[in-house]
Amino acid sequence: MLSLLKTRLPMHIKIMLGIGAGTLVGLLAARWGCSSFVLTWLKPLGTVFVNLLKLLAVPLVLVSLVDGVTGLRDLRKLSSMGGRTLLIFLCTTVLAVSLGLGVVNIVRPGDYLSTERREDLKARFSTQTDQGFDNAQAFKERGPLSPLVDMVPDNLFHALSNNTSMLQVVFFALFMGVAIMSLPSDQTQSVRDLFGQLNRIVLLMVDYVMAFAPIGVFALIASLIADLAGNDPAKALELLGALSVYALTVVLGLVLMLLVVYTTLVRVFGGLSPRRFFRVMSPAQLLAFSTSSSNATLPVNLECAEKLGVREEVRTFVLPLGATVNMDGTSLYQAVATVFIAQAFGTDLTWAQQLTIVLTATLASIGSAGVPGAGMVMLVIVLQSVGLESAGIALIVAVDRILDMMRTVVNVTGDAMTAVLVDRWMGRK
Ligand code: ASP
Repeated sequence: MLSLLKTRLPMHIKIMLGIGAGTLVGLLAARWGCSSFVLTWLKPLGTVFVNLLKLLAVPLVLVSLVDGVTGLRDLRKLSSMGGRTLLIFLCTTVLAVSLGLGVVNIVRPGDYLSTERREDLKARFSTQTDQGFDNAQAFKERGPLSPLVDMVPDNLFHALSNNTSMLQVVFFALFMGVAIMSLPSDQTQSVRDLFGQLNRIVLLMVDYVMAFAPIGVFALIASLIADLAGNDPAKALELLGALSVYALTVVLGLVLMLLVVYTTLVRVFGGLSPRRFFRVMSPAQLLAFSTSSSNATLPVNLECAEKLGVREEVRTFVLPLGATVNMDGTSLYQAVATVFIAQAFGTDLTWAQQLTIVLTATLASIGSAGVPGAGMVMLVIVLQSVGLESAGIALIVAVDRILDMMRTVVNVTGDAMTAVLVDRWMGRK
């Protein structure tokens, strides 16, 4: 494994090898009944790797965004960049939900779930669905302007100390960047230089962490499989089989989003070859797959966007914002899951209810944090909006982690795609 780190292979190949080796070790451990060994000795390595990435996400957003904004020279540019970014975020999210609805209404995965299996899943997972859903409830009850309130921190250090407050850090960095930009440059040159230098230092730290990515993802994937399969892989496979049509429906929607929607947008509006886009993005995508976290993937996504030629002021604005609010994969999954649960319970949703899903899944994905499992928690809001019980989530828990890995890939790709589009729209040649 260590020699893998030293080879000259491209990073995405090394990460893929890490994923492959992790899968093998996880499966063998489950088969031989020694998953606990993997959990004791490998899982901590994966946790350290993800922690290091998360550790760098906040400082990176702060320094790179200040550095980027101070380079803008014009306040109007900032507001038009903000407006264009939000417009693309909104359009692609609505598109993703609509695509999810289209796919799930055609495939009708709920019809493949027998009544006995449904009751079995409900009985087995109902306790898990009670946990953590208070947050979703609270989000729903706080009114439409609550995201605005959440964005403005009352204490900078509090915002910096919490990985889920990324939006507050973005707000502070923008605020500070605008102030620096508004003063004559001879009065602020040293501060500008300082942020530029800090930016380079944090980016180098990201490179150091990424040098260990193959081992990090190896440990993450092996322990994930050990966690899911436990010492009874047959049971895990049986559950997977029962929910396979549902899982494949979500995957089909996600693949269409990547290969049709993003490919077209990148080519037509981004002026980039989709092949190049996906090749450069592959380390971020593989990392998103391994960590199931847009936040943890942010430092690498910023590097990939740089390699795609997206200017600093654009990527440092669009990507942190996207990691928190733009979740195309999550919104698509929420639409599919809601209709699947309705179908499994024999409830036919009307067109008006499906339209409600477009609205609520868009909101729920905005409210989902860029951490593992957040999308499933927020699914409660979508279910309730069409009169389904939140307990219906019990039907999909068994395969959620795997789908989380895939939807996170789409989430981070959507952010990078938006950065490419905004960059072009803001005048990149
Ligand atoms: N894990 C996803 C992300 O970080 C959010 C989700 O649970 O859908 O982007």
